[in-house]
Amino acid sequence: MNKGVFIKIIKWIYKLADGGEKSSQVIFAQFNELIKKVPLLYSILLVNSLSLAYTHYGVAPDYLTIYVAALLSIGCISRAIRWYGFRNSDFSLKQARHQIRITVIFAALMGIVFSIWSYSLYSYGGLALQTHVVYYISITVIGIIICLIHLPAAAWSTSITVGLPFVIFVIYSGHPVFVAIASNFTLVVLVLLKITQSYYRSFSSAIDAKQQIERQHRHTKKLNIQNELLANQDGLTKLANRRSFANYLNAKLSDTTKNKNFIVGLIDLDGFKPVNDIHGHAAGDRVLTEVSNRLKKLLNTDAMLARIGGDEFAVVLDFDNDNEQIQNLGKKITASLQTPFKMRTGLVQISGSCGFAVYPNAGQTAEKLMDRADFALYEAKNHARGSSVIFSEKHEQLIRKKSLIELALGQSVKKEQIKIFYQPIVNGKTGEIVGFESLARWFHPELGQTPPEQFIVTAEKMGMVTEITLYLFELAIQDLRSWPSHIYLSFNLSVHDVINRETLKQLSTILKKYQLPTNRVQFEITETTIMSDLEHCSNITRELQQEGYAVALDDFGSGYSSLSYIHKLAFDTLKIDRSFVHNLQHNARSRGVVKTILELGSSFEVRCIVEGVETEEQKNLLLELGCQNMQGYYFYKPAPIKEFTFEKLK
Ligand code: C2E
Ligand code: CA
Ligand code: CA
Repeated sequence: MNKGVFIKIIKWIYKLADGGEKSSQVIFAQFNELIKKVPLLYSILLVNSLSLAYTHYGVAPDYLTIYVAALLSIGCISRAIRWYGFRNSDFSLKQARHQIRITVIFAALMGIVFSIWSYSLYSYGGLALQTHVVYYISITVIGIIICLIHLPAAAWSTSITVGLPFVIFVIYSGHPVFVAIASNFTLVVLVLLKITQSYYRSFSSAIDAKQQIERQHRHTKKLNIQNELLANQDGLTKLANRRSFANYLNAKLSDTTKNKNFIVGLIDLDGFKPVNDIHGHAAGDRVLTEVSNRLKKLLNTDAMLARIGGDEFAVVLDFDNDNEQIQNLGKKITASLQTPFKMRTGLVQISGSCGFAVYPNAGQTAEKLMDRADFALYEAKNHARGSSVIFSEKHEQLIRKKSLIELALGQSVKKEQIKIFYQPIVNGKTGEIVGFESLARWFHPELGQTPPEQFIVTAEKMGMVTEITLYLFELAIQDLRSWPSHIYLSFNLSVHDVINRETLKQLSTILKKYQLPTNRVQFEITETTIMSDLEHCSNITRELQQEGYAVALDDFGSGYSSLSYIHKLAFDTLKIDRSFVHNLQHNARSRGVVKTILELGSSFEVRCIVEGVETEEQKNLLLELGCQNMQGYYFYKPAPIKEFTFEKLK
């Protein structure tokens, strides 16, 4: 045979000995099982062979029963020792696979060698010794197959190289008892091979399943770590998030060993929203990251800095209760935020306001400290944007007053403390009253008079604005019944009323109760209300119009003043904010703006009312600009209805 073909055959056998595709885990498990079983296998082979040599000693030639037997025993012992030694060594996948292949090949080779030896003993001695040979081969093959239950390839190779020639040999001998033994042997081996096969299948799939579970476990562990991180970290700035900030603050407060002063600071960016709108969200993100970097640089490393909202940051740091020092820190923070941010689209200018609360003076719980810092922040934002405010006793009094107001407001409707004042809407040229705007007034015996802007906001926060609206509307409708039919009621709605369809239905029910037509009522909705949810509010105004109400866009020009959405909205009246009237005489630009709005109104066929007319001069200027309807102290101040005499109007 040529050398190349021989090597190819060896390689083919070597590959075949592997026993097919299997995962690395199965290979290692198989190998570990072999380490335990192979020494046992060689022990069986050794004992069986020695007992065969013993029974044939003196009958068969010595070279067979002593020398060859000794050689074979040495082979068995050395293989058993070698495998026993594997227990304490580490094997790579490649090494383990190699040993498995070698085991399969060895099973065949050793089988052939031992078979030849036993067959050579067969020709010596009588029937009893021949029976021992037959018994030896059959019991050894069965023992080997059982030991190799984890390696079907080796079990098969032994069965084919030893078992098959054995059966042929015995049948050829023609002895009926031996033929019966050979038949039994064949049956047992076939059953054993079948068992080996199915045992191996369940063994390898159990190993694979275990591996899959381990893999899933590792994956779950990794996900858990990621989730933990996400749950506590702000994804953009990598600062702590609101949750971990709260945890930190609570832990700090419960650590009674550190009874030192510390401050809780809230930092809110002013003018951040337009950055997103004008420069895009990517630029907004970059500004936030840069803000977090600037703040980190300013604060020492043991300060806890977190991003707790879109453009809101919070900090906890140990600090002496020294107002001047805290103020300096506030100044440093606000100054650093005022430095422009370099973006690809140009420079971005924002500012930031800060509110500080000092532990333990301002509060001793996390909730109270956050609340106080938030109050201070609100003060900073309201009075001087881009500044910082430290929560003080003065603020504590304000809060107390606020909670008194809240308490009293809750009773105001029941105690009939809220009344309506009316301010006429007039024809500027003739002075004729065309309608009345109802304005709420709250009189409290101890708190005095609270401005509507203030108590409406408080009522909104307390969730009792609907109650006030419905109560006032009923009062106004009762008044409307006695007015001449050409005079309408203009009624202010708050954002909560507009958003809630149920409130609007209840308003209609009140009108029906007094049998008045919807066209006697105009609802005033502010520009800021509309902007809070343009889509929803424009649907609502359309529905109100369809029911026959008039809708006025109030305070036009005070907020976002975008002319672009006007055509999208359904409304009948535009109330031009009083801030324009203020500058009318001195500012040509204001005049230009008012003129443009008036022209826009007439082109949309929308009635315009200019609010806040205080002087004759203003009235005349507005008439020149083409304004018809006006409202303001020049004509009438808001007053109870009894102060207006309707005889004149009829
Ligand atoms: P608004 O709807 O813009 O009402 C006009 C405000 O301007 C009234 O203030 C009125 O007294 C004042 N005003 C009228 N003429 C002049 C003037 O010539 N010069 C100046 N400087 N001011 C003038 P008021 O009554 O304090 O109401 C403030 C705001 O409170 C109202 O602004 C309105 O938004 C809200 N409000 C008042 N009553 C109610 C109400 O019943 N429900 C709701 N939701 N809001 C109300
Ligand atoms: Ca109004
Ligand atoms: Ca207004």
